[in-house]
Amino acid sequence: MEYTYLGKTGLRISRMGFGGIPIQKIDAEGTRTLMHKLAEEGVNYIDTARGYTVSEEYLGYGLEGIRDQFVIATKSMSRTKDAMAADIQISLNNLRTDHIDLYQVHNPSMDQLEQVIGKGGALEALEEAKASGKIGHIGLTAHSTAVFEKALELDWVETIMFPYNIVENQGEELIRKCAEKGIGFIDMKPLAGGAIEDGRLALRYVCSNPDVTVTIPGMAEIAELEENIAACSDQTPLTLEEKEKMDEVRRQLGTNFCRRCNYCAPCSVGIGIPNVFLMEGYLLRYNLEEWARARYEKLPVKASACIGCGKCETRCPYHLPIRQMLKKAAQEFGE
Ligand code: SF4
Ligand code: SF4
Repeated sequence: MEYTYLGKTGLRISRMGFGGIPIQKIDAEGTRTLMHKLAEEGVNYIDTARGYTVSEEYLGYGLEGIRDQFVIATKSMSRTKDAMAADIQISLNNLRTDHIDLYQVHNPSMDQLEQVIGKGGALEALEEAKASGKIGHIGLTAHSTAVFEKALELDWVETIMFPYNIVENQGEELIRKCAEKGIGFIDMKPLAGGAIEDGRLALRYVCSNPDVTVTIPGMAEIAELEENIAACSDQTPLTLEEKEKMDEVRRQLGTNFCRRCNYCAPCSVGIGIPNVFLMEGYLLRYNLEEWARARYEKLPVKASACIGCGKCETRCPYHLPIRQMLKKAAQEFGE
């Protein structure tokens, strides 16, 4: 495993970290097994969030006795001082630790970022927690390039997390600026939310960019962990064959694919929007037509129920033409 410094934080971390979203699907004991495996393999960066339901709690349990071997990063959607102070305390309790190495402002919009920075905003709580040693460093996560760009100008921002993968390289220039400014760049969604099936190829791509400080694929199984470690430990240059496969992935996925972040919810008529696109992906990409149709059949509200109000599109950070995409899915599934 390759190690590097997380920008100006000075934290020494493995270039592959552990994305803590999928452990919501397993349990505390399974998380403990994964944490011990990480320690054994020298993967020392862990990402979680207040918003990932039980993730912090499972990690707190799983890291008991080995916490000092890890750099822990979490994040909160709180925008005010009081709410952020309360969240920091909850994270400390959940993670069973007296300090969190990196605490991030979780995906603020431009307006919310103003609130965070303003009087009585969340930044005041973060700075107080940093001064008292409850947190080590302050970072920010974003889905929009506008917020990313703004964050680069803020002197309190020590790390930035943003999606970057074979099909999403809209942040490439900004990622380069992070490196120039000594801001640690944390790559989220290296597999484009599961849309890229070849995990090894996906990780080879992001690790081949020296401006990516750390990438955090989500994992819930030992086998996935081993595969990801193998991919990220391979420091040989990308081969021509790999580059051709990456072009093929780009051709297949284009830019109109859903990353399943669910920020578009709630739909006015109750369509589970990312679920529709997930089933469509199974139908079109996995060659499992019968299975995909059977699963789509079970969705309580089908794509054809869309009334075209457009509210979901205003909330999608990727600006997907959801109405048009649902129309296509409805045609493919026939309802
Ligand atoms: S446009 Fe369709 S999918 Fe989007 S919120 Fe309205 S009804 Fe739901
Ligand atoms: S449609 Fe957009 S907001 Fe909704 S889950 Fe997909 S990427 Fe996220």
